[in-house]
This record gives sequence, structure tokens and C-alpha cells, in this order.
Amino acid sequence: MVLGQSHEVMMGFSYSTREKMLEELRESGIVDLLVIGGGITGAGIARDAALRGLKVCLLEKGDFASATSSRSSKLVHGGLRYLEHRQFGLVREALQERQLLMQRLAPHMVHPLPFLIPVWKDSPHSGRWIGLGLGVYDFLSAYLKPHRRVNRRQVARLVPQLNFANIQSAFLYYDCQTNDARLTLENVLSAYQAGAKTLNYVQVEQFLLRKGRIRGVVACDLLSDSHLEIQARAVVNATGPFADSVASLLKSHRASLLRPTKGVHIVLRPQVLSLPCAITYFSAVDRRVMFLIPWQNFTLCGTTDTDGEVEENGFASGEDVRYILDSFEGILGKNVSISPRDIVSAYAGWRSLIAHPSVKRESDVPRTHKIILHPEGLITVAGGKLTTYRRMAKSVVDFALKTFRLGGSRCWTHRQPLPGAMKFSRRAISTLSERDRHLLLTYGRRGELVKRYSCGEEGQEVLHPSLPYRWGDMEYFIQEELALKLQDIFLRRSHLFLQDPLFTLAIAERVATLLQKRLGWSEVVKRREIENYQKYVEDALKWKKAL
Ligand SMILES: Cc1cc2nc3c(=O)[nH]c(=O)nc-3n(C[C@H](O)[C@H](O)[C@H](O)COP(=O)(O)OP(=O)(O)OC[C@H]3O[C@@H](n4cnc5c(N)ncnc54)[C@H](O)[C@@H]3O)c2cc1C
Repeated sequence: MVLGQSHEVMMGFSYSTREKMLEELRESGIVDLLVIGGGITGAGIARDAALRGLKVCLLEKGDFASATSSRSSKLVHGGLRYLEHRQFGLVREALQERQLLMQRLAPHMVHPLPFLIPVWKDSPHSGRWIGLGLGVYDFLSAYLKPHRRVNRRQVARLVPQLNFANIQSAFLYYDCQTNDARLTLENVLSAYQAGAKTLNYVQVEQFLLRKGRIRGVVACDLLSDSHLEIQARAVVNATGPFADSVASLLKSHRASLLRPTKGVHIVLRPQVLSLPCAITYFSAVDRRVMFLIPWQNFTLCGTTDTDGEVEENGFASGEDVRYILDSFEGILGKNVSISPRDIVSAYAGWRSLIAHPSVKRESDVPRTHKIILHPEGLITVAGGKLTTYRRMAKSVVDFALKTFRLGGSRCWTHRQPLPGAMKFSRRAISTLSERDRHLLLTYGRRGELVKRYSCGEEGQEVLHPSLPYRWGDMEYFIQEELALKLQDIFLRRSHLFLQDPLFTLAIAERVATLLQKRLGWSEVVKRREIENYQKYVEDALKWKKAL
């Protein structure tokens, strides 16, 4: 085992850090564990292995969390509906992870969220059945915040926007909400601080084989279009919905591991619903379970679940959005209507579900994960959930240590908080200014670092009239969070794209000028990056034209 050098004391996680990591890999490209994929699964594995003292390299072909891990429902939850499929083990594990994340690992970014489950008159489940399920859910979560029943009058007071004529009674219970992209990023940061080389925009193109066994990878740095070879004692394919396509670089891989399904959410503008809690309902189209989720001042609605080919840069279609709008029928009161004009943005992600030939309905496919050892020695991990990423990572690293005798200590990710983690009183939050609340609940301890960038005349400048960002935050993303493109800043370091896509177009030139200064872009590169972003926004809003 070669110990990774700790980066904890080093400042910054920027383009120049990335250059240095690449240079070191080119000079002595040998690591213990190479992880392909910088979504939550890959980031969790890299962190786990680096904390155990292994020399680790993580390669992500886009930005960290650029695929599924920034396109989820943003819930850290046990998954109440999985009880229906008797997946008690999965639910229990997810509830334990929820607790750990909320209390110790990431209290600044995993927050309790009340959920209301109305017993709809035409509900496929009776009140007694739902109550029973919630009783089991409470039991599996060790009764940390037990559910309670609420009558129609209480529902009317709590959520006057609902259609009471259609409600018999309701239940209130708790789960948690997070920032999926930033949870991934904090795992990447933590891996980096523990000595891992964590690189975005580096794509694995081939495996290096010796006598039929994997010895490393050939990767392409997509920023400089140059190739490098990295030797590794073990290689993990953690590419989520792309797991089959990466595994198919090996001769032995034939049968598909995955059954990817597409999930779309729409984002409603703040004034439309302003919900005090999330609402569970059944789609008027096909009776699938759907959610309305308060998210910052906006509302997320989703999700769809349809079989389909994984698209590289997948977008919501007009049909997806229409389905979500049609699903509302009978749910909201007569004085509340939601039209396409109320939708600010929409996004799509692909679930990397394990193929189960016997399961017909997409939403019935189990959300468990699977570890596969290919004959050439590649480890593929597939399936799982955002919530259970830490457990998945632990089981993958345990497996790699045992199979390849890598050495390394025992897992301790359950004890080590993420970089921004800090304890605070949730009650005291209401006394903070909107900006301070944003800093605390988004960056936690690292909020102090953000503040250092958002002082001075330009740094303090308010970026958006109704969102809590400052101009200095953009600089912070570039210098401390390895943002390299406009998409990285608008879609994942911040949520500006989801909250106001047209506004991001208006400031694209100014942010690109900042990137140009820090990354040394030529004028041609700057123009190209702006055009790429404009094209992205155009594609991401195409659903509008189809409605
Ligand atoms: C609509 C939807 C809602 C969801 N909601 C929730 C929820 O609320 N709570 C929850 O717990 N879970 C949820 N999930 C599940 C959760 O989001 C996923 O399980 C998780 O994000 C998958 O992470 P991942 O790292 O495995 O995959 P990804 O995030 O997709 O990451 C894989 C990465 O591999 C990279 N990659 C691919 N090929 C290469 C290559 N050749 N070289 C380098 N990199 C490569 C990709 O660019 C990608 O970034 C949801 C999923 C969907 C689709």
C-alpha cells in the first residue's frame, strides 16, 4: 500500500490544483484504487478509500455530479413506498444512513422535511394500510420522529391549496432533504483532502490489460485533449447509468446489467404553491406515487419513471412535462391552477436500476445495489440510491481490499464528518439574515471561506434580485470547488439554472470573463464556452415549445 499524501492543509481546489494532480499522475501514474465516475457513488468510494490510507484516483468525464447525482428528487429518505415491496432491509439501512447524515456527517445540508400523505378518496391504499406502513417506518427508524394522524380540518389549515373534497384524512411524517450535487462535491472535496487525485473532465476510454487482467486505464483530459495512462491495482466502474457502456470496453461484457429509467422533475416558481411540507399523491394519469416538494422557495414536482435509452445530456421532453401537469388533476383546490407558465425549469435523470427480468413496472424495480467482479478484474457497482451511497461505498472498498489485497485500514466514513459539517441549532436559523441562512445551510463550516470571497466592492455585489447569491460566490466556486465551465457554476455549484435559467444567460458573459481570467482561456475558448452554454439552455428548455 502506498499512502496518499494529505491535502488537508493545502488551500484551494481549482484549475491549478487540477493541473498539478494531472502532472503528478503523468509522472508516476500508479495508484491503489482507480474510480471511474464522479457521481455520488464514485465520490463516496474515493473518499472511503482515501480515508483508509489508499492512494486513490477518481476520474469523471464531465463535472462532478453532472449526471444522475444532480438530477434526483434531492431526498435523503428511507423510501416509504419500498415497504410495499417488502424491502425492509433497504428501508432500514436507508433510515440509518439518513440519521447519520443528518446528525453527524452533513447536518448543514441534510435537513428534516415534513411529508403529508393525504388519504385520498380514490387512494389505492386505505388509511389503515398507510398508518400501518408508517408504523413500520417509525419502527425501522427507531422512532426518532414518529408519524401522526391529522384530520381534514388540520389539513385545510396546513395546506389550503389541496382539494379537500377528495381527502378523507392524512398522515404527517418526516424524511430529509439535501442538495444532491453539493453532497457529491463534499465527498469529492473530502477525498481530495485525504490525498486522492479527483479530476473532472477526464474520460476513461480504454482499459490497460496484461495477460487478460486489468492493470489500469487510458484516459483523456478533455480540457487539453491529451491522453494519459494510469496504472492501478484495482479499478472500480462507478458510472451509474453508464455502467454497461464502460463495462462493454471489456470483451467479456455482453448481457446488460441495467434497466435504466428516466425520471423528470419540474420546478414551479415560488408564488405558485409555497408549501409548508411535501405532499404525496397519486398521478391522475396512471396512479403512480408522485411528490410535491418545497425546495428553497420553489416547488419540485415529480417524478416520471419510464424505460428508455440513457442519453448523454438528457433533457425533459414536452411529453414528460405534460404527464406531470396532467397528474395534478383532482389534487389541488379549485382556486389553484398550475399552467406551463408557472414552470421555471425541468430536469431529467436516469436511474441505474439493476435489470430484473421478472419485474414489469419500472417503479417496481428494487433500488438495491450490486457489486460485480468481471473476469478481467474490473469491479462494477450498479444500482442504489443517493441516501445509501456511504454504505455502498463501504461495501465496494471492503470488496476491493479483500479481492486485491490492497491493505488499508477499516472504514471510518461513519465517524468522519464531511468538510462543511457543523452543528447548529435549527431553531436559531430563523433569526439569521437570508444570506447567512443560505451560507450556513449550503456550505456549513465552509461558509466562512465563501464570505472571504464575497467581501470587497465587487465580491459583495448582489447577483440576483431575489436569490441569495453574491458575485464573490462565483470566484469561490472557481478557486475552491474546481468549477471549470459555466454549467458547473450554474447547474451544480449553485442552482441558478434551475431557479432562473434566463438570468444565467444574461450573466453568462460576465461569469465567462471571470473563468477566462482564472483559467487562462483565449477569446476563442471563451466565445465557444458561452455558445455551448447557450445551446445547453436552449435544449434544456425545449419542452416549452412542445406544450
Ligand atoms: C429522477 C430521480 C430521482 C431520484 N431521487 C432520489 C432521491 O430523492 N433520493 C435518493 O436517495 N436517490 C434518488 N435517486 C437515485 C440517485 O440519484 C442515484 O442512485 C445516484 O445519484 C446515482 O449516482 P451514481 O454516482 O451511481 O451515478 P451518476 O450520478 O450518474 O454518476 C456516474 C458518473 O459517471 C461518469 N462517467 C460515465 N462514463 C465515464 C467514463 N468513461 N469516464 C469517466 N466518467 C464517466 C458520468 O459522467 C457520471 O457523472 C433518484 C434518481 C433519479 C433518476
